[in-house]
Formats: sequence, C-alpha cells, structure tokens
Amino acid sequence: RNDISSTLPAIGVDVGGTLTKLVYFEPNDEDEPASEVEARVLKNIRRYLTKNSAYGKTGHRDIHLQMDNVEIHNKKGTLHFIRFPTAEMGSFLQLAKSKGMAKLLTTVCATGGGAFKFEEEFKREVNIRLKKFDELDALIKGILYADTQCKTECYYYENASDISLSQKARFDFSQPYPFILVNIGSGVSILAVRGANDYKRISGTSLGGGTFLGLCSLLTGCTTFEEAIQLATKGDHTKVDKLVRDIYGGDYERFGLPGSLVASSFGQMNSKERRVSVTREDLANATLVTITNNIGLIARMCAVNEKIDKVVFVGNFLRVNPISMKLLAFAMDYWSDHTLKALFLEHEGYFGCLGTILLT
Ligand code: ADP
Repeated sequence: RNDISSTLPAIGVDVGGTLTKLVYFEPNDEDEPASEVEARVLKNIRRYLTKNSAYGKTGHRDIHLQMDNVEIHNKKGTLHFIRFPTAEMGSFLQLAKSKGMAKLLTTVCATGGGAFKFEEEFKREVNIRLKKFDELDALIKGILYADTQCKTECYYYENASDISLSQKARFDFSQPYPFILVNIGSGVSILAVRGANDYKRISGTSLGGGTFLGLCSLLTGCTTFEEAIQLATKGDHTKVDKLVRDIYGGDYERFGLPGSLVASSFGQMNSKERRVSVTREDLANATLVTITNNIGLIARMCAVNEKIDKVVFVGNFLRVNPISMKLLAFAMDYWSDHTLKALFLEHEGYFGCLGTILLT
C-alpha cells in the first residue's frame, strides 16, 4: 500500500483522559502530489476528515479554529481541528476501518496517555502505527507554533480586577519567555517554560476539568460539559459556599479579606435548610468556582515561586467557559497586586496534537 505518511506527517492525535484531539494538515493545491496514487490518497483523506459524518455523532470539527495558509515542514496548507470523546475510541476505529483508512495511512503522530493505551488497538483495527511523542514536549511546541502563525492567538482580560467589566483583549506573545503554563485537562499540569527546549513540570493537581465535570454530574444530573457550563452560568455559588461575611458579618479587616471572599467552598451545604433551597444551577456554579479558584491558587503560588509573571492557561476545561477564564484573570491580578498576568490561547486544547506533527 501507498505510504504518504512517511513523507507527509498529515495527522496528529492527542488521546487524552477525556477527549481525543486530532489535527489534520491539508496541503494547498499548488503543491502537486508526487503521483496519481498520492493525489487519490490525499483526496480520500480530505473527504474523510472534513466531513463531520466521518467521525460519528460525538465528533466535532471546530471550524472556527481552522488555520488557513500556514506552513508546516515547508509546505503551505490548512490545519483542521477535530475532537471526540476518548470513550468513543472503539467506534471511531470501527468507522475508520469501514471507511478504508487502513489502506490510506500507515502512521499517525500521537501523544497523550491514550497513545500508549490504544496503541495495540490502532494496529489491530486499522493497521496504523502510532509514532509517539511526549505530551509536554508536544504541548509547548504546539503553543509556540500557533502563536507565530496566528497573530490573534493569545489574549488576556482587560479590567481583570472587576469581573463584571473584564473583556477579552489581544496580547502580544512574541516574546514569550519565561512563562508558567497551566494545562487544565481532566487533571492539571503546571510547567515553568524558560525557552523552547528549557522547561520543567513543577506541579499539578488531580482537581481539574474531569473533577468539575464529575462532581457537577453527580450534583446536578447534567450529562454534558456544555450543559454543566450552561447551568453554572445561571447559578450563584454564594448560596452554596460559606463566605467571609457569613462568618464575620462583614470583612475580615485585619488581614484585608473582603466579606465577599469564599471562606469555605460548599461550606453552607451541611445545613438542611440551605440544601433544600439551592438549585442545580447554584451547585454547578459553586463546583466551577471551587475547581477554578483552586487551580488559580496553585498556579499563582507556582508563579511566585519561580519568579515568573506570565501565566498561560490552556486545556479544554476552558472551552466555552468564560466564567473560569475571568475568574483566573481576576485571581492572578487581585492576589498578586497586579503583578501577575493571566493569558489564554484560542486553540485551547489542541496544542498537543498540533505539536506532534511539528516534532516529526
Ligand atoms: P484530556 O487530555 O485529559 O482529555 P482536555 O484538555 O481535552 O484533557 O480537557 C478535558 C476537559 O475539558 C474535561 O474534563 C472537561 O472539563 C472539559 N471539556 C470541554 N469540552 C468537553 C466535552 N465536549 N466533553 C467532555 N469534556 C469537555
């Protein structure tokens, strides 16, 4: 069979604990394929990956994130971004098999824990070999690349100190180093990045995006991440949490703690009367605020420890989730006396898979 993947690293996957992220690089037409066979193969892959029906009901192509006219390994083309739940890997492979993918590709670049976990299955079901890369190497490579290709990649929140006024604004990330990188996926990893090849993983927490979705499902009966975020948007965590003012009757002035500050997350829920009066929305909001603030706190301590003032947040927990981004922007700004800055990137959860096709 024809193997174009050795000459053209076209597909990268990041098989995470919750979501599988896939990037597909489609070369521009002006690059004449070497042969008729290659042309046919390319056409088939293109048709397969750019049609939503190709990856089932639970797969999505994020068309708004598509990057046109970018250069990869001296070829110009378009990057397409696709995601589906890792739990659907079995059906994804069956679908890929039924579409004859095995005849088109022999190797796919892969990262994430699933690159190990599903290696045998890829080989058995679609006869595809996974070329594995470390997920943190790939993540950083992807971030630096995306920012050079896309001038609107990086942003921050203006007026971060007042959440009701904070607004997205472009950030010039052309001088990135040093920065703290907080990857909020199912769990959280925190890195200190001082150069393209100079980084270390400094911390992490198991209380991440997976925890938010898990707890929120238990507490509200929601069935999707989108639903959890929608509920959270309409809820009020102060009905669930115990605030400084619930304990002090006002501010704790001596240490400058405002009355509106959460003293104890979910701290009201030991009371039966309180429990019957909270809504699913309040519980979703409290779960989101709890998880987000905890990540913000750890990220800030890491930044202070490393003496680094830029904190970049990525990962799919931030997808369709401005509440968390504004909270993180507020937390970095407020608790550091405006010395730390929270930064965000448009391609959120896709940097790992993108990095794999750059590392080949
Ligand atoms: P991982 O590599 O661990 O799967 P991701 O960066 O893909 O990590 O983030 C996974 C997290 O993103 C989930 O735990 C959840 O909080 C959030 N998320 C965003 N969109 C979805 C979705 N459509 N389905 C499930 N989780 C989602």
